[in-house]
Amino acid sequence: MNPLLEVQFRVPFDKIHPEHVEPAIDELLADAARRMEETIASERPLHALDTMTERLDYAMNVVRHMESVATTPALRAAYNAVQPKVSAFYSSIPLNEGLWKAIQRYASTEEARALAGTMKRFLTKTIDSFKRHGAELDPVGKARLQEINVALAEATTKFSENVLDSTNAFELVITEEERLKGLPPAAIAAARASAEAKGQTGWRFTLQAPSYIAVMTYLDDASIREALYRAFNTRATPCGPGGAVHDNHQLIARIVELRKEEAKLLGFRDFSDFVLEDRMAHTGERAQVFLDDLRQKTEARFREENHNLEAFAARELAAWDVGYFAEKQRAALYDFDEEALRPYFPLERVSAGMFDIFGRLFGIRVSEEQNVPSWDPHVKSYAIHDSSSGAFLGSFYADWFPRENKRGGAWMDALITGDPGANRPHLGLICGNLTPPVDGKPALLTHREVETIFHEFGHLLHHLLSRVEVRSLAGTSVAWDFVELPSQIMENWCWERESLDLFAQHWETGAPIPDDLFQKMKRAKTFRAANAQMRQLGFGFVDLALHRKWGGSGDVIEYSREILRQFSPAPLPSDHAMLAAFTHLFAGPVGYAAGYYSYKWAEVLDADAFTRFRKEGVFNEQVGHEYRDKILARGDSEDPAELYRSFMGRDPDPRALLERAGLV
Ligand SMILES: [Zn+2]
Repeated sequence: MNPLLEVQFRVPFDKIHPEHVEPAIDELLADAARRMEETIASERPLHALDTMTERLDYAMNVVRHMESVATTPALRAAYNAVQPKVSAFYSSIPLNEGLWKAIQRYASTEEARALAGTMKRFLTKTIDSFKRHGAELDPVGKARLQEINVALAEATTKFSENVLDSTNAFELVITEEERLKGLPPAAIAAARASAEAKGQTGWRFTLQAPSYIAVMTYLDDASIREALYRAFNTRATPCGPGGAVHDNHQLIARIVELRKEEAKLLGFRDFSDFVLEDRMAHTGERAQVFLDDLRQKTEARFREENHNLEAFAARELAAWDVGYFAEKQRAALYDFDEEALRPYFPLERVSAGMFDIFGRLFGIRVSEEQNVPSWDPHVKSYAIHDSSSGAFLGSFYADWFPRENKRGGAWMDALITGDPGANRPHLGLICGNLTPPVDGKPALLTHREVETIFHEFGHLLHHLLSRVEVRSLAGTSVAWDFVELPSQIMENWCWERESLDLFAQHWETGAPIPDDLFQKMKRAKTFRAANAQMRQLGFGFVDLALHRKWGGSGDVIEYSREILRQFSPAPLPSDHAMLAAFTHLFAGPVGYAAGYYSYKWAEVLDADAFTRFRKEGVFNEQVGHEYRDKILARGDSEDPAELYRSFMGRDPDPRALLERAGLV
C-alpha cells in the first residue's frame, strides 16, 4: 500500500520512500481530475470545489516538505518529475470552462443568493478568481492572455538567469594582505577559502551577499569598496559583469509592458490595480498614498541621520562609503556586541518560555508528544489543546538545526488544513537553521534567532488556531499584505523586559539579561532606522511608479534611478542600475511586483496591533483571547481590513511603527 495515497494525521514519514512519489501523484492526479468532473456535474459545485484536491494537496505538501528537509538525489528526482504535472493541473482549474459554467449556474440559484458569511465570501472569491484568469474574455482575448502568460514566463525566467550569470561573472582577487585591513577574521578566512576553491592564491571577493556585505561594511580601502559597489549596481547591464550578453534593459521594459496589457485586457486601470484587487490595499492608489505618508514622516529624520554621519566621517560620502562609516559610527555610539546576548538564549528555555507566554495569552496548552514518526531524530512534535474546553486543535513539528539534506532559512508550512470546530485537527510545522549545540553546551541563540522562532510560531498559530469551515480560506491563506501580521507581531515580545525575563535566562546561572546590556540592545535597534525605512520606501516607490505610471518610452533604468536618487543617503553614480537586478519585481510573472509596499504595510499592522498589548498589558489574557478570536481564528473568512478593525476598533495607524523605530 502506497503511504502517500491517504490523508493520515500521523504522517508515516518513516515509511515514505522516493519510489512512492510518482505512482501516488499520478493516481491522485487522476483522482482529482475525476473529482473535477463530479464537481462540474454537482448540484453544489462550490462545496465540492473546496475538497476537490484535498488528497493531492496533502501528498504534495508531504513530498515537498520531505524534499526540503530530508532530500536525497532520488527524492529530488521524483519531486522534479511530478512537480510540472501537478502545477499544470492546479493552473488548469480556473481556466476550466465546464467548471466556470457550473459555478455560474450555481451562483444564480436561490441557495447561492442566500449564502452568508464565509460561504458567501468563498463564492465571490471563486468567481473573481475565474475572472482574473480570463473566464469572461472572448476567444480572441483568451488566446492573447495565454500568449501574454507564456511571454511573461519566458521574459522573467531570462531576467533571473541574467542576474545570476552577471553576479557570478564577477570576482576580485586581492593578493596583498595589507589591502584587507578592516575586514573581520571570518570574512578574510571566507575570502581565502573562496580563492582556494578556485585554485587561486590570495583572497577572492564576489557579489554574493556575505562577501559583498562584509566588504561594504568593514574594508578600509575605499577603492576596493568602490569597485565592488559599481559591479554590484551595474549587474545585468552592458557595462556590468559579464557584459552585454546579460543585459536586462529590454526585458524589463517588455515585462512591464506585458503586465500592463494583461491588466487592461482583464478590465483594470493598471497592473497595480489588478494585483492589489484582492489584497488589503485594494488599489495602487491606496498603496501609493500609504508610501507617500510614511515618506513624509521619515524624511526629516533621514536628513538628520545623514548629516550626523557626514559630521562623524568629517567628509562628504560617496555611495560606497555609507555602510562603512555607518558601521564605525554604530560601534562608537553603542559599543554593543550581539554575541554577549547568546548565553541568555538557550533554545530549550526560549521555546518553553514562548509556549508558556502564548499559551496563557491565547488560552492554549502546548505539550510535547512522544513516539511520533518524523524525518530526523532531532525533530520534536507537539500537540496544541484549547485550555478551557480541552479540545485537541492540532499538532506540529519543530525542526530547528541545519543539516546537509535540508534547505536554508526559516519557514512555517501547513501539512493538513483541518477545522477543529468539526473535529478535524490541523497539522503544521516550523523549521529553521539555528545555531546548533557545540562543546557540550546547549544551543545558544542570537537575539535575531529568537525573533525568528517567535515569528515562525506566529505563522504556525495562524494555521493551528484557525476555525474556518472553508479549507481554501483557512489559516495563512490570506492576502499577501496581511499574512505577516500574525508572525511579525510575535517579535514584539522579544523586546519587552517583562516577557524577556520569562525566557531569557543565563544557561549556567539562570540570571536575567543585565539592565545595561538590555538598554544597549534597545538603543542599537533604532540606529539609522530612517535610512533603513527610506531604502524600503524607495523600492516601493519605484515598483508602483513602474506598474502604475511608466509610459513605455525613454530609458526605464534612468527613470527608476531618478526615483531612487531621492531615497539615497549619497549621490547615485550615473551608471547605477539597481533595477536591472531587482529580482523581487522581475524574477517571476508576479512575485513582489506592485506589492513591494507590503513589507512596510505589514510592519505598520504589527506595530499598531501590538499597541493594544502595550497599553493593556503584554500578558493581558483578555486582549490575547480577543486577538485569537478576531485575527488568528479567522483566516481569510472576512476582508482583512474588517478583521483588523474588529480587533483594533479602527483602521491601522503608522504612528506605532514610527515610534518603535525611534522616528518620533
Ligand atoms: Zn513570515
